Order: sequence, then C-alpha cells, then structure tokens
Amino acid sequence: MNAEIIAVGSEMLTPWRQDTNSLYVTERLNQLGVAVNFKTVVGDKPKHLVDAVRIALQRVDIVVTIGGLGPTEDDLTREAVAEALKASLKRNHELIAQLYARAATRRMTLTRNNEKQADVIEGAVVLENPNGSAPGQWLDTVYGEHRKLMLMLPGPPSELKPMMDEQCMPRLRKVLPKRYIATRVLKAALIGESVCDARIAPLYKEFTDVETTILAHLGDIQVNLMCAKPALDLARARVDSLASKIEEELDDFLYSSQGETLEQIVLYYLEMKGATLSAAESCTGGLISERLTSISGSSRSFVGGAVVYSNELKSEFADVPPSVLERHGAVSKETASALAEGIRERCDTTLGVGVTGIAGPTGGTPEKPVGLVYISVSDGKQTDVVERRFSGDRARIRAYAAQTALDLVRRKLM
Ligand code: ATP
Ligand code: MG
Repeated sequence: MNAEIIAVGSEMLTPWRQDTNSLYVTERLNQLGVAVNFKTVVGDKPKHLVDAVRIALQRVDIVVTIGGLGPTEDDLTREAVAEALKASLKRNHELIAQLYARAATRRMTLTRNNEKQADVIEGAVVLENPNGSAPGQWLDTVYGEHRKLMLMLPGPPSELKPMMDEQCMPRLRKVLPKRYIATRVLKAALIGESVCDARIAPLYKEFTDVETTILAHLGDIQVNLMCAKPALDLARARVDSLASKIEEELDDFLYSSQGETLEQIVLYYLEMKGATLSAAESCTGGLISERLTSISGSSRSFVGGAVVYSNELKSEFADVPPSVLERHGAVSKETASALAEGIRERCDTTLGVGVTGIAGPTGGTPEKPVGLVYISVSDGKQTDVVERRFSGDRARIRAYAAQTALDLVRRKLM
C-alpha cells in the first residue's frame, strides 16, 4: 500500500512556513507498512486543490489531506475533495448542533460561515475533533475501479496528531493488510557520504525488500534500514542481516548500531571502562562539553573543563606553558597537546581532550588558514594529536572540530 500527503495552505508556499505535519503522518503510515510515495504542497486555490487531489487519487491507494477544513473563505479542502471525487457534500445537522454547543460553552458567537465545517462528503465517516472545531473525514471509496482511502485532517498540529493517532490509526489497522515493520539506525562518524554510500551500496542493493536511506550531517552519517513483512521475525531477520553486513563494511567508522548519538557512545565507553574525561576547548567554545552534558547521567564520566579562548587562560586554566604558545602559536600541535595534558592533570581525569583552531572567517594566514584545527587526546601516558583542515563557515568548522574530538575520544577508548 502507498500514500500521498497533500498539505493545503498558501502559507507553506512562502519562505516563512513549512509543512511539518506530513512528517508526523509519514511516520505513522510507515509504522503500518504504508510507504509515502508523494508529498504535495498546494496553495488555497480551488482549481489547484482539485488537481492535486485528482492526481493523488490516480497514483496512490491512500490520500491524506492536511488543513483547509476551517470556517474561513480559504478553507476549501472539503469542496475540492468532493469535486475531485464527483461526490456531493451534505450539511450534517448533528454537526451543526455540536458546533453551536461548542461555541456556547466557550461563550463565543458562531458566524454563519462556520456551518460549512459541517459539510460531509457522501459516504464519509466524521472524525471528531475534541481539540478544535473542524471535524476530519474518513472515506473508503472507489475511484476509477480502484479502492481508495481518503483522509481529511485539520491543519493545526495539536488537532491533527490526536486525530491521526486515536481515530485514523485504529481504522487503518483494521482495513490494511497486517504488516510488521523492523527498523535499525546505524551511525558512523567522519566518513564522507559518498564514500560511505560507495562502500555499502553493493550490500543494500542485494536487499531489495529493505528500504535504506542515508542521511549525512556535519560529519555524522545515519543509515536507516526499514523492512515490512507479514511477520515481525521475518522483518527483523532481514534488517539484522543487512545491518551486520554494513557494520562489517564500515568497520571502525561505525559507532552505533542502535541509533545512539556519538556523545552517548563516548559516555557509554567511559562508564564501561570506569574512566573520566575533561575538555579544554578553544575554537569549539564549549561545543564538546555542551554535547556531552546534554546527556542525562553524563556527570558520572564527564567532569567538565574550561573554555580557554585567550592565551592567558590557556596557561592559567590548562597549564599550557607560555613558552609553547610563544614558540608554536596558539593554533599548533604543541598547544593542542598541552591543552589535553594540562586539563587532564588539572581535573584529575583518565582522559583529557584539547582543541584549538581557526574557525574564521577572519584570522587566517597563509601558514595557518581558516579551518585549520588541532585536536588532541591524552591519557597521561600517550598524547595523540591530529591536524584537520575543515572547510565551510564558522559554524561548520566548529561543529566538525567537536565531532572529530568526540570521535577521537571514542577511538581512544575502543
Ligand atoms: P482551522 O480550523 O484552524 O482553520 P484548518 O484545518 O483549516 O484549521 P489551516 O487553516 O489550513 O487548517 O491551518 C491552520 C494552522 O495549522 C496554520 O496556520 C498552521 O499553523 C498549521 N498548519 C496547517 N497545515 C500545516 C502543516 N502541513 N504543517 C504544519 N502546520 C500546519
Ligand atoms: Mg483554516
């Protein structure tokens, strides 16, 4: 079974508003084994709306419209769906009574235009809306000899979500063939998206029944696997089998096979080894600490550290010898190592991490260009330091530096 979601509203064709409801609806449909093949955003023009619904009815089994069910002039979804289906709209008197009763309890007067919210497509089931005035509609119908499901949901997320969960999901479960979904999220750090895809594509292409998507963001790669089968065991077996092949292929780039974040994994390793960590951050300005402390329970392994932006504080808080700063500069291998070693000593932790670099856009020189970052991890016996040249803007360089630092700590603990 497949679906199309039509988000109705001219505001979503402007730069200021985005359709987010469809993400929610997609997640729910996927849970039932329904693939969303198309998403359409359409403005509040009657003809465009009718066209969108007709096209959707021709190409998918389930059409979900979102929005345009209210009382105002630009709320036209009911009329458009009726026209596309060549069905009639009937005003439902019980619903009108409910609308007036609802307004009365809120001490509001109801203008006549509100009554159109009680127009129901012939054959449709009314979906109550306890969180708003416009009811939704559910229609199980035939269009051009094919069975189609038509769901019309209100636009406000606070109305759509409960209606989807409480009224549409149970109905969908009843009418759809039983499907069980197994999913896995694998994550890798600091491997390029195209390199990753080149390595794993030969594997997932063999698994045509598993849907594989790759998302890349700031040095983090997420591989999503999904499989739908008539039995959960079957779906799980397929996903697990592909997952273990991908794990093997990505080897030590892979840091999680259950969807955890890199900082979660770092904390997990630290705890497992009974180890602690501190950080001296220059160009990342606390990003590493922010990511670690965003995880509840991180205090068991991450003790803290310092943001050491000036040379003075690098010496004062992380004991970087002034002679090192003078001889090699603040952005150097030597300073990064001294930061890691110094903060480790100062905080009395198993590991110390130090980062220094030029995040730009100003401050670069031919010898030390923008994007040059040194990252170091020390365990007291050995201090590792890497040099990286990240490209992009300030935010990107900082994010990559923090990602690389966390990944170095992970590798040190592996
Ligand atoms: P109402 O009775 O409130 O008019 P409606 O069903 O007519 O409900 P719309 O008028 O289309 O819905 O949208 C109401 C509000 O819901 C919009 O201002 C917007 O904030 C939100 N909304 C609508 N569609 C979406 C969407 N696809 N994604 C996220 N928000 C949406
Ligand atoms: Mg509206």
